[in-house]
Amino acid sequence: MQNYKILDGKKISEEIKNEIKAEVNNLLLTGAKRPHLAAILIGNDGASETYVGHKVKACEQVGFKSSLIRFDNSVSEHELIQKIIEINSDKDIDGLIVQLPIPAHISEEKIIEAISPAKDVDGFHPINIGRMALGMPAYISATPQGILELIRRYTIETSGKHCVIVGRSNIVGKPMSILMSQKKSYGNATVTLCHSQTKNLSEITKQADILIAAIGQPEFINSEMIKENCVVIDVGIHRIKSESTKSGWKLIGDVKFDELAHKCSYITPVPGGVGPMTIVSLLKNTLLSAKKEIFI
Ligand code: NDP
Repeated sequence: MQNYKILDGKKISEEIKNEIKAEVNNLLLTGAKRPHLAAILIGNDGASETYVGHKVKACEQVGFKSSLIRFDNSVSEHELIQKIIEINSDKDIDGLIVQLPIPAHISEEKIIEAISPAKDVDGFHPINIGRMALGMPAYISATPQGILELIRRYTIETSGKHCVIVGRSNIVGKPMSILMSQKKSYGNATVTLCHSQTKNLSEITKQADILIAAIGQPEFINSEMIKENCVVIDVGIHRIKSESTKSGWKLIGDVKFDELAHKCSYITPVPGGVGPMTIVSLLKNTLLSAKKEIFI
């Protein structure tokens, strides 16, 4: 018998989309304009195309306007920054995202800094990260925000729990560590942040009440690395070849789901866990921007 519960990001994200859709309808009734998300996509990387496609589709589902701006891989940093500056001052656009990764000849840091913090609905700008760290109103990075929302909707206790995060990226692990330790409900955890230089990783992950895997290594976390009743949140997404699917490929995470799920109290699946929650967080941030609820 299955004794673990699935943290169903797909289901929760649909609930949230319906809530956003209702808010959009209310907004339109007041005579306000439709929320508008702009996405910049560089090159034709398959995974990036898919992620942006999901974001555009989600906008349509909730009644947002969306604009997809495409550039060739050969686009210069200057040209890209000029476009960002133009969008920053476009009053019709509420949120702007630049799909990562971007070509190596362009500085990711400069691009993120060029986006107006008031339109930075991905929550990557240093001003938003800084404000989030201080507990001030901010656009919170979409993936960590989505994970927190999933925890909140399943009323998983975090206060006083030991939360171990594996991965310290600026977009997932680092902000997640700040949010889980903040003095707020669905925070108040004791956090350990692990990375590639962490010694005796398994000894640490085994102490986790809540384990968040954002490593970027397929099925890295196995059943030997967790304790019984652990809550496991798998951020990883990897597309691998598969003979068992029609398409010839499937998605897996950073966690060996089939091997360790039986030891968990709750676990996110891949796909259908953190991914859809990331997208609705982006929509939530865009709605906040359209409603001018955060002043940055
Ligand atoms: P990064 O590659 O930026 O960071 C990976 C982190 O994992 C680094 O901090 C790295 O350590 C650490 N790490 C790598 N190998 C090990 C190891 N052997 N032991 C311990 N730590 C290790 O990844 P991201 O945070 O951007 O993404 C992580 C995963 O999540 C990817 O699969 C990505 O595709 C996915 N993702 C999914 C999203 C979603 O919406 N579901 C959104 C964003 C990402 P160090 O810092 O020392 O190098």
